[in-house]
Amino acid sequence: MLVRCATPLSVRPGRRRPSDLSGRRAASAVGTGDPALIDDLVAANRILFQQGVVDGFGHVSVRHPARSDAFLLARSMAPALVTAGDIMAFDFDAVPLDGDDRPAYLERFIHSEIYRTRPDVMAVVHSHSPNVIPFGIVKTVKLQPVCHMSGFIGAAAPVFEIRETAGDASDMLVRDRTLGAALAASLGSSSVVLMRGHGSTVVGTGIRQVVFRAIYTEVNARLQSEAMRLGTPTVLTPAEAENSARTNDGAMHRAWDLWRRAAMGDG
Ligand SMILES: [Zn+2]
Repeated sequence: MLVRCATPLSVRPGRRRPSDLSGRRAASAVGTGDPALIDDLVAANRILFQQGVVDGFGHVSVRHPARSDAFLLARSMAPALVTAGDIMAFDFDAVPLDGDDRPAYLERFIHSEIYRTRPDVMAVVHSHSPNVIPFGIVKTVKLQPVCHMSGFIGAAAPVFEIRETAGDASDMLVRDRTLGAALAASLGSSSVVLMRGHGSTVVGTGIRQVVFRAIYTEVNARLQSEAMRLGTPTVLTPAEAENSARTNDGAMHRAWDLWRRAAMGDG
């Protein structure tokens, strides 16, 4: 018996909607063979919004698990709305793989140049989280670890001054390779670099660690500002910072599970 299929016109072959085409392109370009990693990257986008690190702007990436010379990053969109089909793959020139022509973040060069210069970095968060920004503006004060959750900051976070590369009339965005390389140089071997008048960039050895660090960079900035209203803060010694960071690396999954459930309603 011939069964006639009532396929809607919009999904008949040859009449695919733009979103279907985007999904096919993404699957071919990303090609990680690691759906759990994509799932974590989507969750990271949602968590960073839910925890107040990103808003309509900001982004999180992870190094490509099958290609050490590429990374995964959402197309240009608000992080809280990212789904698996929105993930794109880029090479270290920040060029999309496989001709994926969807709009990309202007500041993807932050990610490409850090991955190029820091083989140890597996994930990157760029944000404009508000409590951090004052520490990039005031030259006489450094962002330093004032509590045990933020020992990863080390002695003090370096500051990237875009004027040293772009002059005094830029739009403040890291929008090309030269600026990305200058930012990576300012980051050096640190975990956090502040960007004067703009925001900050945090790096880690994986998605969960970089999300933890981005959240606690913002928390530390708030605590340090509050402490400075009361007096002169005592900051962690280098040994306290290193040891507390190591301890937190072993315990961060508890926080990830909580943040994920709050942001995704599962986990
Ligand atoms: Zn930015």
